[in-house]
Amino acid sequence: MKKRNTVLVLGIISILILISVQVYIIRGIWKQKDEMLYLRYRSLSQEAVGSLRGQRSLDVYDTVRFILNKYSQQVIKELTELKDEQKLTSKKKEILEYFSKVLNQEQDLSGFLSSYFDKMGFEKDFNHRIEVTYLDIIGLDTFKIYQGESFRSRPPPTREGISTALKGSKSSILVNWFHLEDNNYSLSFDYNIDFSDKQKMILKETSASLAMSIFSILVVVIIFIITYRNLREEKRLSNLKTDFINNMTHELKTPLSTITVAGKTLEMVQIRSNDSKILETAKLIGKQSVLLNQLINMILEISMWERTQFQLDKKTVEIEELMNDVVDSFKSGGGNNASINQKYNFSGAKVDMDVVYFTTLINNLLSNAVKYSDKVPVIDIEGFTTDKNICIRVADNGIGINKTDQKHIFDKFYRASTGNIHKFKGLGLGLYYVKKIAEAHGGDVTVSSKSGKGSIFTITLPH
Ligand code: ADP
Repeated sequence: MKKRNTVLVLGIISILILISVQVYIIRGIWKQKDEMLYLRYRSLSQEAVGSLRGQRSLDVYDTVRFILNKYSQQVIKELTELKDEQKLTSKKKEILEYFSKVLNQEQDLSGFLSSYFDKMGFEKDFNHRIEVTYLDIIGLDTFKIYQGESFRSRPPPTREGISTALKGSKSSILVNWFHLEDNNYSLSFDYNIDFSDKQKMILKETSASLAMSIFSILVVVIIFIITYRNLREEKRLSNLKTDFINNMTHELKTPLSTITVAGKTLEMVQIRSNDSKILETAKLIGKQSVLLNQLINMILEISMWERTQFQLDKKTVEIEELMNDVVDSFKSGGGNNASINQKYNFSGAKVDMDVVYFTTLINNLLSNAVKYSDKVPVIDIEGFTTDKNICIRVADNGIGINKTDQKHIFDKFYRASTGNIHKFKGLGLGLYYVKKIAEAHGGDVTVSSKSGKGSIFTITLPH
């Protein structure tokens, strides 16, 4: 038990370590892909902006220039007339917002970049974000509308109005900062791109490694489960074998010690002079020898079945007649204290079967019904035919079998936990025999039972 738990704990720890290592590796790959994607799109967007410089005829801010120029001419008058400081501040805020709105809505750079990315075979869908970093409205006086923190640390704008891209954050790429100037305004702004489905793109690129990791974890988990189950099964079988040896020793010892005591009795002078005592003791020795022989034969036979196929010596018999014979001889033997009721509806069915094995099968069921009973045993035997089969049901009023044991009672050497109490002697072979015999005849055996409520065994055999 301890060893099994250690194996389980060690296995789970190894799997957890494996999962952590895989998660660590995947995180590394993810970060690397993220970085690569960022660098790729950054250099690509710079390339695109560079090519824009070459195409002088193409000004992506034509519309913007036109709108802002008209707007500046209009606001310069308002600004000049405004004397109230508070109103002036709110006007400046309004101007900044308007510039931002026009820049975001009217520029053509996004369209240009998108088709450039597409042409280069990259994902073309992205969101842009334009941030004004510097704005002056110029008339007779210059009105400083806004100057962002980042603007102060930048190199002065070039004459073309397009500067080199600076560092962007990981979630967005700063493509470039631009400077636009006209009669009535001087404006600088940043153009950023935001990939809407950046995570999806990385997922697509890492999917192969991800699938391999998941697959390897699954394989290890499956191998672990199989190994652990085998270990448990081996442990169960080894326990069964140990129990079997204990039970067998116990079973063999009983007749042997009876024979030994009987032998000693025969040596006594007062017994030797009493003929009826001698006869009684001899009969006892004979009975115990038969029992011993039966036990040894059963064990030998089972080890022979392991190596060779079941050899059946089939005869055609009328099943009802055979059942009556088997039950009658059981009643006069081990079942004399039980009340046995029979109800057959075989309609004269005849079956090809090995009579000796079939008798053993029914005897085992009946003796179990008597053995595993805590009151006067009442056994109901029912028999009937269906289209293809004959069915025999043996129902008892015994101690019953719980659900867990029901799964195993037909296994070799298996004894239900109550079965190991020496009150119920046995080797765990009776039902294994029953199952083997039924199967050798092309049939089967099933059980239905409830602890404390008795059991019903059903045999089906083809006819
Ligand atoms: P054995 O009787 O030698 O233990 P069997 O193979 O005949 O071996 O039975 C296996 C186990 O099934 C028994 O240990 C017992 O616990 C349970 N069993 C079998 N028949 C009955 C029954 N009629 N009622 C209750 N328990 C039963």
